[in-house]
Amino acid sequence: MALHAEPLPPQWQDWRWQLAHARTAADFGVKDHPTFPMRVTPYYASLADLSDPEDPIRLQFMADPRELIDDGYGPDPFGEQGAASLAPGIRQRFADRILAMMSLACSTYCRHCTRKGLLRECHTADLETLVRCVAERPKVREVLISGGDPLMNSDAAVLAWVDRLAGVEQLDAIRLCTRMPAVLPMRITEALADGLAKSGRVWVQTQFNHPRELTPDAVTACARLVCRGIPVSNQSVLLHGVNDRPEVMAELCAKLQRARVRPYYIFRCDPIAGIAHFRTPPEKAAEIRDYLLEHLGGLACPRVVADLPGAPHKRDV
Ligand code: SF4
Repeated sequence: MALHAEPLPPQWQDWRWQLAHARTAADFGVKDHPTFPMRVTPYYASLADLSDPEDPIRLQFMADPRELIDDGYGPDPFGEQGAASLAPGIRQRFADRILAMMSLACSTYCRHCTRKGLLRECHTADLETLVRCVAERPKVREVLISGGDPLMNSDAAVLAWVDRLAGVEQLDAIRLCTRMPAVLPMRITEALADGLAKSGRVWVQTQFNHPRELTPDAVTACARLVCRGIPVSNQSVLLHGVNDRPEVMAELCAKLQRARVRPYYIFRCDPIAGIAHFRTPPEKAAEIRDYLLEHLGGLACPRVVADLPGAPHKRDV
């Protein structure tokens, strides 16, 4: 039965309460994953029909034995722990940008996460080391603050990073990568949005995968950012059983546009271990791409791409 059938507690809009009451495998009576534990905010769980094993929201957070299928992929195809690593928690795959891990935790662990095999082994970045890595590489013009979810940190910690990076003249953009607007929208408070807007250089990149995730709370979270001039873009992951029908993806893109969130990419699943059941064939991605091109204007139409190890850029499907 869906949790949203129950009356909401008075603290529902308090993101700290949501984190403190995050649900685990034991709460749902399912077997947990041995290395990538289940965790979901009460908010996000409330969007699911828990009685339906094929529910597109449930599929994204419920631990599933199919994650243990060995489909021949490893945990780190992009060398984040190897060649791409500049320092603990700091990676560079492309000349113009650097990615820094600000948190190893998330409010909700997405079962399709690219870093599901890495989060336990990763380190967070040291801010001054990050600034030094940027300064030593004059071509770098963008820093991605990522994780885990960086907004698991306090406002003060997040804004300390943003303000420090905003003081680095060579950076044109500070990209904050967070799934909070979709899984814990109450984390995007007015105060946080005020702080993020100050430098004028923050871009927020989020991940909505299904139209049902665009709830009034989620739309409010996005509006708090957009109304302050912070560009918000969305990267969906193409997931079998969640959003691999053209009509579903078109509805998602249309709802994102209405929320003034730019549908930016649809990614084919990365070549990592533990997500075999989410993979779709390339023909499905192409079918969705063609449908979107036919049914949506350019501003609502994302690129459908694959991120391939060793490739100099994302490849269009
Ligand atoms: S929020 Fe991002 S980093 Fe965290 S589990 Fe989901 S996809 Fe992975």
